[in-house]
Amino acid sequence: MIDETHDPQRRSWVESADGHEDFPIQNLPLGIFSPDDEEPRIGTAIGDHILDLRAISHLLPATLARALSGRTLNELLEYAPAERRSLRQRLSMLLSDRRHEASLRPHLHEARRCSLHVPARIGDYTDFYVGIHHATNIGKLLRPDTPLLPNYKWIPIGYHGRASSIRVSGDRVVRPVGQRRLPDSERPLFGPSTRLDFELELGLWIGSGNRLGEPVAIGDAPRHMAGLSLLNDWSARDFQAWEYQPLGPFLSKNFHTTISPWIVTMEALAPFRTPQAQRPDGDPHPLPYLWDDADQANGAFAIELEVGMRSPEMRNRGLAPHRLSLSDARTMYWTAAQMIAHHTVNGCNLNAGDLLGTGTLSAASPTGLGSLMEMTLAGGAPIRLPTGEERSFLQDGDEISIGGKARADGFVPIGFGPCRAEVSAAKVGLWEAVSRANSPMDHAGSPSSL
Ligand code: MN
Repeated sequence: MIDETHDPQRRSWVESADGHEDFPIQNLPLGIFSPDDEEPRIGTAIGDHILDLRAISHLLPATLARALSGRTLNELLEYAPAERRSLRQRLSMLLSDRRHEASLRPHLHEARRCSLHVPARIGDYTDFYVGIHHATNIGKLLRPDTPLLPNYKWIPIGYHGRASSIRVSGDRVVRPVGQRRLPDSERPLFGPSTRLDFELELGLWIGSGNRLGEPVAIGDAPRHMAGLSLLNDWSARDFQAWEYQPLGPFLSKNFHTTISPWIVTMEALAPFRTPQAQRPDGDPHPLPYLWDDADQANGAFAIELEVGMRSPEMRNRGLAPHRLSLSDARTMYWTAAQMIAHHTVNGCNLNAGDLLGTGTLSAASPTGLGSLMEMTLAGGAPIRLPTGEERSFLQDGDEISIGGKARADGFVPIGFGPCRAEVSAAKVGLWEAVSRANSPMDHAGSPSSL
């Protein structure tokens, strides 16, 4: 639903908002922030500032007053989209009409002086695998003749991830320690991952949930979507290869997931909905519970995605992040609505604040790959950085940043803010101690064998 909040002519009296890369007045994402060291509260990003919504809740729809006083967005997410839309309309008016400047100005905080938090209490996190080019590229490395497994075009494939280790942009990722096995050996080695990778993804926030035993019909799925963030699904490929059969990823994924702290609402994204790419000739037609004509007509997102990387050497030389990849959310083989319909078809209940990852969104071209695993062909063909350094996988001190920009003709583009994190060294003291205590005769755990 396009309304006056999307009007490209609309301007804010917050000067930095006009032409802002991510947060012009047409965006108004929701998040949880702390000004200086004060307690967390709900805010919206506007230009270089954050507006404290708790402090101005008396100016906002009265029905939302309690939800707006929360320390997480869960209660607000639970409301029907119409309620969030009225909040958006009100905020858009307050931030564009100069008559409200005097009353709002005291509640605007410079974003650089604020800390941002995971925006919701995430009860459950599920990661899908709807990036078909990623699934094909990874499949080719394992099975050159039949890269996609027979279920791929019938089922939006996913696995249950870990909510407790989801962190916002800026929090360091500690290199995980665990088991890996070299191809020619029977025994696994133990130690820090030597094949640490990232995955370029979008995160879909669940709004109102569904009751246990009551599936969400695909036509109703949009009512359950609250918004999107950027997501980096850090992955230890060496652990993954050893552990994933028969039940799927476990410790290779659950040590850390980075998200951008702002929820860009579905209402803000309305102008950027676009038709789902047609399935290639010969692909099966999905089962009826996964098909909705309206979803096919505008269930995709016109969002450009990019990945940047910076090594410690690049940082020392003052170099900007090097673009590794330019991809697009239109590469999703299954839509967000199809993900929700499938997740709940067996009666599984989703709750407000749950997070669904899309899976790695690689483009079809080699310049748009969403993981190092694909770029380096499982480590065999290292990439080269502007400093001449090479990488097969991430080293300590490397920084990965994901960016996203929604664009459509006739509308002001909107962004997501940063989704960035630096890799820090494994806690070696800890893993050495674990290794010694558990396996006194096993040299596999010593640093020299890495
Ligand atoms: Mn993933």
